[in-house]
Amino acid sequence: MAVERTLSIVKPDAVAKGATGAILSLIQEAGLEIIALKMIQLTEQQARGFYAVHKERPFYGDLVKFMTSGPVVVSALQGDNAIARYRKLMGATNPAEADDGTIRKAFATDIEKNAVHGSDAPETARIEISYFFNSGEIQAPVEAL
Ligand code: ADP
Ligand code: MG
Repeated sequence: MAVERTLSIVKPDAVAKGATGAILSLIQEAGLEIIALKMIQLTEQQARGFYAVHKERPFYGDLVKFMTSGPVVVSALQGDNAIARYRKLMGATNPAEADDGTIRKAFATDIEKNAVHGSDAPETARIEISYFFNSGEIQAPVEAL
């Protein structure tokens, strides 16, 4: 199985409710290695750029407003099949459809304020990790990939 990296964001709703530590614990208990980590306040420009793929969607403006409403905790995760494993741990986009034991089931408020982000494919993971971290901020040997 391929070693992958994926970008995680603990979104403003989950940071505000004090769930950052619990979410990072679930990530580690699932066997995903945290190889980069920081708390930041997204600018409107950063949030718009990060979610540019959704710019034609009706919820885009609200999503940008939400993502800039408070600090977020961004991390890069690494492990075998990390992208799909983290998406499974996150649960469905709409928390009403999320399975028990998932982060969104436990911590999301609604389909927008859904606690976490995770990359959806190797190429987007690469782009998203480099959106927030330079190579000196990632604590894992390049040979791991
Ligand atoms: P995911 O985060 O599960 O990959 P998407 O990439 O489809 O989901 O959407 C990105 C983010 O946009 C979601 O996590 C959520 O915060 C927001 N979003 C998605 N669909 C809706 C919707 N129908 N209404 C409001 N916000 C939404
Ligand atoms: Mg997505």
